[in-house]
Amino acid sequence: MGGPQRFDVFVGKEYLKFNAAHFIAYRGFRERLHGHNYQVTVRVEGELGADGYVVDFGVVKRATKRVCEALDEYTILPAASDCLSIVETGDSVEVTYEDGTRFVLPRSDVVLLPIVHSSAEELARYVAGRVREELLADGARPWTRLEVSVSETHGQAATFAATWSEHDASAARAAKAGRAR
Ligand code: ZN
Repeated sequence: MGGPQRFDVFVGKEYLKFNAAHFIAYRGFRERLHGHNYQVTVRVEGELGADGYVVDFGVVKRATKRVCEALDEYTILPAASDCLSIVETGDSVEVTYEDGTRFVLPRSDVVLLPIVHSSAEELARYVAGRVREELLADGARPWTRLEVSVSETHGQAATFAATWSEHDASAARAAKAGRAR
């Protein structure tokens, strides 16, 4: 095996899921509020370490589980929407679509995510960013590529992937310095 070698680890456990309500909204179209049992899978590509691991499965599972738990049984709202006005008033969140349609939800039942649409694609990118943060905080070793898929329903998933960057390297150094203190 003289050529380049490539390894990745894949985590796709039944418990890596979140049940959430959402609706897609963009200019001229809004879905009705509904829910999905979202399933998350994570693939981490990297160099094989001296211990024979790319990354410990346990580290990936724990990081992903924390991210899923933070979304489980909430209504997901896209805070960066271009057609929804989202206003927090006391214990409530008031959401108004461009046609005047209005929802009022308890603040405690809602997660406001920095996304434009709560599509599986944008959720996959958000979840990947959060898994990245959790992996770095956990001191996971550098990887080369992190891929996250979010499925809304069986056989229907969106995938986002990002390669290891200087941004990741500096965050890893900062996390390491933080733990050393
Ligand atoms: Zn949906």
